[in-house]
Amino acid sequence: MALKFAADAMLGKLARWLRLLGYDVFYSPSADDDSLIRVAKQEGRILLTRDTKLLRRRDLPPFLLILSDDWQEQILQTAIRFNLDLDGQRMTRCVECNELLEPVSKDEVRYEVPRHVFRTQEHFSRCPKCRKVFWAGSHCERANGVIERIKIRIAELRSKTVSRN
Ligand SMILES: [Zn+2]
Repeated sequence: MALKFAADAMLGKLARWLRLLGYDVFYSPSADDDSLIRVAKQEGRILLTRDTKLLRRRDLPPFLLILSDDWQEQILQTAIRFNLDLDGQRMTRCVECNELLEPVSKDEVRYEVPRHVFRTQEHFSRCPKCRKVFWAGSHCERANGVIERIKIRIAELRSKTVSRN
C-alpha cells in the first residue's frame, strides 16, 4: 500500500513537498491535536510531527518526529526514513489541495495558461478541486534542483554508512 501522511501545523512546507513528490498528505493548520491523530489513525496515515509534547500521548498512530526546522532537512529525514520514491509520481498531485491531478486536453486550457506555455507544452493536467492547471514546467525547474540535491545527500549518507561498516 502507498504511504500516506498526516503532517502537523508546523510542517506546511514539508507537506507541500511530499505532495509534489506525489504522496498523499493530510495537512490542515487549523486541525487540533485530537483531530490530527484521529485522521491519521482512521486513514492509516503516518503522523509527521515537530512537537515532542504531542508524542507524550498514549494513543498515537505510527509517527516520525521531525528533528530540524529546516524544510530541506525535513524532506531528507522523511525520505531516508521511509525510503521515499523521489521520482516516480512527481507532479501527480495538487500541492495546495492534495487532490490527484486529472489530465486535460490542450484545447481546454488554451486561455488559462501563458501563451508561450501553450506553444511549447503538450501535456496538461488540472486539480479537480481548485481548478489550477499544471504542466511539466509549471514548478518543476526549481523543484528538480532541490530534489537532485537531496538525492546526492542521500547517496553520500549511504556511502558513509557502508564505509563505516
Ligand atoms: Zn488544487
